[in-house]
Amino acid sequence: MSSKPFPARLRLTLTKLSLPEKQAVYEWLGAQIDLERSLPEDQSTAHSKGSASAIVESRTHDGKTYQFEKRRCGKASCKCAIGDLQDMGHEPYWYAYWKESGKLKSRYIGKRSPWADSSK
Ligand SMILES: [Zn+2]
Repeated sequence: MSSKPFPARLRLTLTKLSLPEKQAVYEWLGAQIDLERSLPEDQSTAHSKGSASAIVESRTHDGKTYQFEKRRCGKASCKCAIGDLQDMGHEPYWYAYWKESGKLKSRYIGKRSPWADSSK
């Protein structure tokens, strides 16, 4: 195995997390990895059936494109692994996409959109 060294400090931090927190980190990492792997070169293809994400909503805010996406969690045993993501997927999350010096960048936002009313 030639896996990259896993920083001890990071490992220590992760070990201290509670199970729900680990679960959240795991899912977040899964989404991040998924995002890195499937950057929408052509965003129209993301709408096709069988793709890694289903876009629920898309809008522009502050010069960036925000997409409310449902993604597969990657677990083979999960219901989202089969069927249409629109129906079987988990809750959608917001992702931001923008261009920086010609390169497409993306970022996981979370359940709340950046323009959501934060006074609640
Ligand atoms: Zn799932």
